[in-house]
Amino acid sequence: MTDNNTQLAVIGAGPGGYTAAFLAADMGMTVTLIDPADYPGGVCLYRGCIPSKALLHVASLIHDVAAAESWGVFFGEPKIDVEQMERWKSKVVTDLTSGLGRLVAQRNITYLRATARFVDHQTLSLTDPDGKTSTLRFEHAIVATGSRAVDLDLLPADDEYIWNSRNALDLKTVPKSLLVVGGGYIGLELGSVYAALGAEVTVVEMLPHLLEGVDRDLIRFLTKTLTTRFKAILTHTTVKSASIQKSGVDVTLRTSGGETTNQSFQRVLVAVGRRPFTKGLGLEKAGVNMGENGFVKTDRQCRTSTDTIFAIGDIASQPMLAHKASYEARIAVEAIAGKNVIVDPAAIPAVVFTDPEIAWVGLSETAAKEKGINIEVTRFPWAASGRAMTLGRSDGLTKLVVDPDSKRLLGAGIVGPGAGELIAEATLALEMAANTTDMGLTIHPHPTLSETLKEAADMIDGTATHYFRPKRKKKEA
Ligand code: NAD
Repeated sequence: MTDNNTQLAVIGAGPGGYTAAFLAADMGMTVTLIDPADYPGGVCLYRGCIPSKALLHVASLIHDVAAAESWGVFFGEPKIDVEQMERWKSKVVTDLTSGLGRLVAQRNITYLRATARFVDHQTLSLTDPDGKTSTLRFEHAIVATGSRAVDLDLLPADDEYIWNSRNALDLKTVPKSLLVVGGGYIGLELGSVYAALGAEVTVVEMLPHLLEGVDRDLIRFLTKTLTTRFKAILTHTTVKSASIQKSGVDVTLRTSGGETTNQSFQRVLVAVGRRPFTKGLGLEKAGVNMGENGFVKTDRQCRTSTDTIFAIGDIASQPMLAHKASYEARIAVEAIAGKNVIVDPAAIPAVVFTDPEIAWVGLSETAAKEKGINIEVTRFPWAASGRAMTLGRSDGLTKLVVDPDSKRLLGAGIVGPGAGELIAEATLALEMAANTTDMGLTIHPHPTLSETLKEAADMIDGTATHYFRPKRKKKEA
């Protein structure tokens, strides 16, 4: 058993953990980054955001090839080589994670392949992949261990017939039929991948809508496309029972009204949410208090109930998004360095990388109505965007939620290809407290989809060039 010391121990090397470690090293701290994987990356790089986006890119190419026929180009039926696709996806992952490994070395960070467990508020016990243990003393620690997929008792993931996102990303086979349980981020993204590769995809969602809580104006476009690509989308529905057979899984589906149907699927993907991953960390030994729903309780500097220990990312709060984790990494490290900082983003953008993509940030129309906030809404249809037409993609919408008095931007929602890129402008506008005049007077390059944000902003004054909307009535004095 060896004893080591470090100024900052970072547990978990996903986008939260490695961002924290890199910044702390850049600020002059001695840093030890701990994770069982060969290189940093976490779920996001190894079996989440990155591999899924690589496969979604392939899916989008398959759809473009089909669409090209109407542009006069005929490629024929695509031939899918799953092994080659898996090799390509794995190379993307390896290139990125090994790249992070090089950045670790360049910054003189100590990277330990191990799992960590708190012994007390300044000591960790580490177990390496060979089972050897050591002790690490730290001045501060940041816990960034992320989250795990929720299993359903009825459908426990078995790596063969019943998948979670990890199995589904391990591209081995394209089943003839796939049941996706959960119409959220993962279900729709991975369902889209398998549908493009040729599987007959059925989605069951227990709530009334796909992506419940997301603006209905945006969802409408997505649902329209998905109904043509999926075999069935069954809302208000869940799985009542399941049994594994040689050929796949027999399930009984039940609607909220109590009707049942029996169906068989070659594979089932369960994507019903994620839970903070705190198991085996020994947080109680360090005096760290838990909050609600399995999250670690933190203050606005990401500090836990134990002064020396911070928690960031999926383990600390919703939304479970990589970019929220890396933002919190910065706050935690700066707080440790004694800076007077707090977690206070104007808004956190979210993107679902389906086709079309859906992205939103800030206040939604529904939330404004629920909270009784007075708003004005503009909707610029992509059918009026030259760029969207040249891409053959008029199936989009840019929507702004605006304060009617100051014209300050309060929220934005975008559906359409590339919505995830476009939402960054609205996020910056929100952070800078921009109003729609600022957005409208900002020269946007032509012809681009970014112009839809300018046009939606101009719509507030009824001055959008490519969409006629009568001027707002002036308020009576
Ligand atoms: P989710 O919360 O997005 O969706 C889960 C869905 O499953 C919900 O709609 C829920 O109502 C439904 N559900 C739950 N139990 C069910 C049941 N028994 N039968 C039928 N439906 C059921 O969760 P997810 O898709 O597993 O993703 C987890 C998290 O990962 C997301 O919340 C998100 O934070 C993150 N994520 C983000 C991205 C991205 O940023 N693009 C992509 C993937 C995952």
